[in-house]
Amino acid sequence: MITFVPEPHLLDSPRGRSWPPAPDPAPPHGPPPDRADVVIVGAGPAGLAVASALWHLGVRDLVLLDRGGRPCGRFFDRVDVLRQRVLRSPYEHHPGVEGYRDCELLDFARLHWSWLTPVERREIRMAQAGHRSVVPVDVFEAYCRHIATLHQVDGRTWRATVREVRPSADAVTVRGDGFAVTARSTVLCLGEERTAAPGSWWHGEMAPPGVSHWDEPVPSGPERLIVIGAGLSAAHLIANALGDGRRVHWVVRAPRERYQCADVNASFFRAEGRARFDGTGWDERLTLMGRHRRASVMFEFRPLLRRAEAEGRLTVHRGRAVTGIAPGRTGGSVVRLADGPDVVGDHTVLALGTTVSIGDGLLPGALTGARDGWPDLDPRTLAYRRAPRLFAVGAAAGMVLGPAARNIDGHRVATARVATAVAAALAGVTAPLPAEAGAGARAGEQVAAHV
Ligand SMILES: Cc1cc2nc3c(=O)[nH]c(=O)nc-3n(C[C@H](O)[C@H](O)[C@H](O)COP(=O)(O)OP(=O)(O)OC[C@H]3O[C@@H](n4cnc5c(N)ncnc54)[C@H](O)[C@@H]3O)c2cc1C
Repeated sequence: MITFVPEPHLLDSPRGRSWPPAPDPAPPHGPPPDRADVVIVGAGPAGLAVASALWHLGVRDLVLLDRGGRPCGRFFDRVDVLRQRVLRSPYEHHPGVEGYRDCELLDFARLHWSWLTPVERREIRMAQAGHRSVVPVDVFEAYCRHIATLHQVDGRTWRATVREVRPSADAVTVRGDGFAVTARSTVLCLGEERTAAPGSWWHGEMAPPGVSHWDEPVPSGPERLIVIGAGLSAAHLIANALGDGRRVHWVVRAPRERYQCADVNASFFRAEGRARFDGTGWDERLTLMGRHRRASVMFEFRPLLRRAEAEGRLTVHRGRAVTGIAPGRTGGSVVRLADGPDVVGDHTVLALGTTVSIGDGLLPGALTGARDGWPDLDPRTLAYRRAPRLFAVGAAAGMVLGPAARNIDGHRVATARVATAVAAALAGVTAPLPAEAGAGARAGEQVAAHV
């Protein structure tokens, strides 16, 4: 295995450069239309990849629905709140479309040579020479904007929260507050939600004062930060806090923190890695997913965290399970541990990872066919087996494509399968969309149609 550990100076690219302006995309006005060929729920990197691929296949009657309304908005918000300046994936991983004349991420970076720092230029030369190199988040964001503009994605993206997805025999109706869109096919690109804390940690729904989550800004001011979690988000939070001169308590449930060179083993981005999921039994895939989705921190953090621990700026509570969190007597919060003293801090951040959104809650449960938290998908098309007009791209395809499904390159593989299937289904359809198209049908009726 090749270990790629970027030097600290490679990890610090500028953010917020003013890139040459792209043609100003007109955002759509009013509610989404009530009919479309295809609806995509979620306009993250996965939704962007699917929309762009469909554009090349001649499918232009698209509606993208996203809570934030900004293509890739949640991805960049999360990256920025953690102050991550470079991607964890190489230049080949991007949401542009393969096999067409789309500008690749590396070409895009080269075209913007004069905007780049000497370090960034050297990394591009590394990538051109076929070596592993580091992609600035700033370049990636400008590229995503370019891809969105090129494929007319902005003008088809509505800010909307989808509450219900109802497939029928010949269409899928997607509903939210005050709108319903009926389409021939719908692609769920929902990504992952942050994992909630166990209900036993505090009373009531709301976290106690002085507690926030990894994807929210950490308030300025608190001097002693408690970070709970063992993954990369926890590592970023700790590194940022130490950099800001704070003292940190790190609560790790495992006996020791785990370091590795990438968040997904590189083999899973290649055909031989994906082959480990093709035709393999469910239990074996489940074991692989469990092993490769364990919380871990990238090697580049290790020297910093070890040094801070040795200097007493970081206290690591290894092998400690949290049993509760309560407000402190004089502000801040107290974290109770199963078998150890309480940890007292001015603020606590929960970095408990993410949970894959598979469409449950939107779809009738019988249609997701969920098993061990994974949907029942046709591996050839990534269609839900019990709702063949509904598809999944992104982390939800993990049990078909392996752990890389959650990453940008996994979206590329999933998109190729889904876009082809969606376009082929549209090409074979001549009848108009049914007037009702499931818009008025009830969940039970649709389940009966597909189970
Ligand atoms: C901090 C961080 C750094 C990462 N770095 C990398 C990296 O360098 N390389 C890499 O390959 N991967 C990276 N990842 C993994 C990364 O999450 C994925 O590559 C990518 O964001 C997933 O794209 P997505 O479109 O599937 O999900 P998201 O980016 O989460 O997009 C899903 C969208 O769907 C919307 N949505 C969900 N439910 C609904 C609903 N009901 N109604 C309306 N909208 C909805 C969400 O609001 C969101 O906008 C990183 C992840 C994090 C958290």
